[in-house]
Amino acid sequence: MPRSLAEYQRKRDFSKTSEPKGVPDPSGGNRFVVQKHWATRLHYDFRLEMEGVLVSWAIPKGPTLNPAERRLAAHVEDHPVGYYDFEGTIPKGEYGGGTVMVWDWGTFKLEESTPAESMRRGEVKFSLSGVRLKGRYALVRTRSDKDWLLIKKKDEAADPTFAIETFDTSVKTGRTKEEIEQGKDAVWSSRREEGAGGLINLANAENGPMPKTLDPMKAQLGDQAFDNDRWLFEVKWDGVRLIAFIDEGKVLMQSRAGRSVDAEYPQLQAISRFVNAKQAIIDG
Ligand code: MN
Repeated sequence: MPRSLAEYQRKRDFSKTSEPKGVPDPSGGNRFVVQKHWATRLHYDFRLEMEGVLVSWAIPKGPTLNPAERRLAAHVEDHPVGYYDFEGTIPKGEYGGGTVMVWDWGTFKLEESTPAESMRRGEVKFSLSGVRLKGRYALVRTRSDKDWLLIKKKDEAADPTFAIETFDTSVKTGRTKEEIEQGKDAVWSSRREEGAGGLINLANAENGPMPKTLDPMKAQLGDQAFDNDRWLFEVKWDGVRLIAFIDEGKVLMQSRAGRSVDAEYPQLQAISRFVNAKQAIIDG
């Protein structure tokens, strides 16, 4: 049976919700997404891109890396492929009203059989390459077309201590539920306060003159290494720090300490040709 978006579209009023209307997209991708959805009841929507749509299950407790916990998964209507990165708030009173967060995403590989045959048999075996979810899984139909179980297989990615509530931010934008609801743009700010979230709202940004100089963010010594879902970490390369101010094709460069270094790197005047903007500041 070919897959269809008719039920998805029938349930929604696209003049009121910002969800994508969508058409089947047979380009044959193999992405998966997990959306945390604060609807009437909290659940996680688990979607596999198959046969031009996102075949979808609603999992009340969410997926897990723990092979000992089987998770009830209700098979729901197919969603358009364009739903893959949907994040935002569905208005109250509309179908699925509530906040949607992209909780995990990536690609998957079917382990055997075709998508159509796996769905017909009621057994979809696959492995995930996501940010938070990895390794082998199976979705298995039980009593009716609606009732399925998501099962984590025992492999290197399995984690009996997995606790879903420790992951409370979007893998797409880094936002918390509250930040999604406030419509805060997904932009990292160096001026955030501890625990206040890493986001600034560009909607309230004001025009101003191009700055002549700026004090770049610098690494700080800490007493202890740490890990935190809200931080991005990178290797510290050695070399020269340089801030380039590009303004209408003209490039001015300063060192980390604010000294003009235009005479030292004349070859870098060319970088304005590689930046598709009238004005930009590059910290590199
Ligand atoms: Mn949902």
